Amino acid sequence: MLQRGQVCEPKTVLAEGPGLAMNDSRGRGCTLTGVLLANIHYPIRRFAMSIIDKALKANQTYAKKYDRKLGAHPAPKIAVVTCMDPRLSDLPGILGLPIADIDVIRTGGPAVTEDVLGELVVSTRVLGSKEIMLLNHTGCGFTTFTDHELNAKLTALTGDSSPAPMRLFSFKDPEENTREQIKKVRSHPWIAKDVPVRGFIFDVETGLIREVKGVAQDAAA
Ligand code: ZN
Repeated sequence: MLQRGQVCEPKTVLAEGPGLAMNDSRGRGCTLTGVLLANIHYPIRRFAMSIIDKALKANQTYAKKYDRKLGAHPAPKIAVVTCMDPRLSDLPGILGLPIADIDVIRTGGPAVTEDVLGELVVSTRVLGSKEIMLLNHTGCGFTTFTDHELNAKLTALTGDSSPAPMRLFSFKDPEENTREQIKKVRSHPWIAKDVPVRGFIFDVETGLIREVKGVAQDAAA
């Protein structure tokens, strides 16, 4: 059996299955599990993929108790656009809504990209969401750099500038970011005018959310 950290250079693949039996270049037999195959030509990094390995194991337990009714067609009531930050992951807790009611659309920031707009169109027009919530937060990682800075840093770090300029949607002010999001979503011709579009900021210190009024709403108030 191949040990973590041991180099295995494949020569002959003997069999495929849950594990992959093979001989290395010195004729030693070894077995690779699927998650190790990505490292097949390289020294296997110690503990690489260990979180995914644990998750795969936990999934076996989860599936045993899985309520198959949850596999029915989704019928979300609200689309929530929020940041990839793990502190925003407990949306049912933060918002007091059932998991099944929330269509969660997550990007860094969040950024309301063309893809996000497409997902909002599908959520409201196809899946039946009735409201749109844009949920920003304090202390966002995307306020700690500018696109230009991170592009320069990654180019220097990797010695490869070919992906630059990568659009990372960094921003400085969550309130201003929220107002721009509201404007962008509200003005999309395929998002129905009777679907409320409201923006909020989640305070990571207190757990409270507060509303940010859009420009049009301010003018009307
Ligand atoms: Zn964030």
